[in-house]
Amino acid sequence: MLKDLGVEALVLERDAAASGSTALSSGFVPSAQTLAQKRAGIKDSIEAFSADVQSKAHGSAAPHLVNAYCFAVPKAIDALELNHGVEWHVLDQFLYPGHSQYRMHAVNEKTGEGLMNALLKAAERAELTLLNQAHVLELVLDSQGNIVAVGFSRPDQSMEYVKTQALILACNGFGANEELIREHLPAIANAFYAGHHGNDGAAVIWSKGLGAALMDMGAYQGHGSWAMGPGSLITWAIMMQGGVQINAKGERFHNETQGYSEAAVEVLSQPGSQAWAVIDAELLDLAMGFPDFVQAQKLGAVKRCEDIEQLAKLIACDVEVLSKTLNWPIHDEALAIDQPLQDGKLAHARVFKRRLKPPYFAIHVTGALFHTQGGLSIDEHCRVLNSSGQAFKNLWAAGGAARGVSGNAVWGYLSGNGLLSALAGGFLAAQSVTQHIRSQGS
Ligand SMILES: Cc1cc2nc3c(=O)[nH]c(=O)nc-3n(C[C@H](O)[C@H](O)[C@H](O)COP(=O)(O)OP(=O)(O)OC[C@H]3O[C@@H](n4cnc5c(N)ncnc54)[C@H](O)[C@@H]3O)c2cc1C
Repeated sequence: MLKDLGVEALVLERDAAASGSTALSSGFVPSAQTLAQKRAGIKDSIEAFSADVQSKAHGSAAPHLVNAYCFAVPKAIDALELNHGVEWHVLDQFLYPGHSQYRMHAVNEKTGEGLMNALLKAAERAELTLLNQAHVLELVLDSQGNIVAVGFSRPDQSMEYVKTQALILACNGFGANEELIREHLPAIANAFYAGHHGNDGAAVIWSKGLGAALMDMGAYQGHGSWAMGPGSLITWAIMMQGGVQINAKGERFHNETQGYSEAAVEVLSQPGSQAWAVIDAELLDLAMGFPDFVQAQKLGAVKRCEDIEQLAKLIACDVEVLSKTLNWPIHDEALAIDQPLQDGKLAHARVFKRRLKPPYFAIHVTGALFHTQGGLSIDEHCRVLNSSGQAFKNLWAAGGAARGVSGNAVWGYLSGNGLLSALAGGFLAAQSVTQHIRSQGS
């Protein structure tokens, strides 16, 4: 219980019910050394996880946050399990791009909605007060730059104010703010935004008045597999296990195993800003384990083609080009390690161990923006920093409101960096605020 810790917390949420991008997400949270990972017999370490985060960002991710988040996230996940009964499972059928071990944690439903429901139940259990339809529009400062109150609008447009000893900004990034996206992320400005409409960049906008520093504003999570008809996520697991992306000319155009975030830009640069995700029956089986995919399939996004001729007709491309594309050279593992750049280079630097078998299943996809990864500069306790690197006395930021751990570009995003920042950042900020409140007395 929060009151046992000597803290009275109030969450202000702009919507009628809290959901955010977390509920829209797949809900997969990466972590090493959790109880769930140990139960599954998976050997992993925090060092290996940190190295993967940093390696995906080519060493450019904020080191103090990579370290703090990779240490904090197993504590957050285990605390949700032990104190709030959240059941976690580790996805162990395939490795997400850049992860050296199985470490994606999901709740039973394997959806972001399931995760959000579990978090809301945990909040209720902890007797946290959640005020919906409270859209925060104003931060009130004293002469020393401390936050003394927060102003929020109510459904009848009236403004209300609440005093505070400490404030955590957890209002995510600026994915829904077209102007900020055009300014900071022009490469993805014309893409569909799949995140929450309420992520309008409030923290970035407030940073100016506060004198808070912004970092990594060029980083974001894109996704190269957004089903065009139904508008839903097509799991990247199928690409990691042998599926391919094919453009309107019937050709592959990138190495799909690099990561789904940078794949968004690759897909958007193809004719018509679109591509086809092509798989076979074996991969369809794998995909049907993902609720988002099942939903897309129900809505008619998955097209069955008996052979290469039918697939060429669907894509409206030359059958010979497509046939050459799908009959890629096959290597065994030893060859792949010894000679990764020979035939692999021709096939966009990817080495295949098998070919897709007919019938084929194809999904028409485009590139989408999922969320932004740049934001308020914070220290390892998630305290917001000003432009001289000094921490504000009573202001914290967690999740997408703060800079992430993906460096400063789209290719730096390791799968799960979004919820890693949200869960680990929330955990660290809450601990730091609790200490702050206790040190102040009431
Ligand atoms: C389709 C999709 C799939 C994804 N899948 C994954 C995944 O599997 N794993 C992963 O790690 N990441 C994933 N992500 C990214 C992940 O969803 C985000 O990184 C994460 O949800 C960010 O959490 P948050 O708490 O910062 O923001 P949110 O969950 O968006 O919460 C912010 C909340 O603040 C509220 N708010 C905003 N402004 C105000 C204001 N001024 N006043 C009051 N309330 C306000 C919003 O209404 C919202 O409820 C995915 C994203 C998308 C779009």
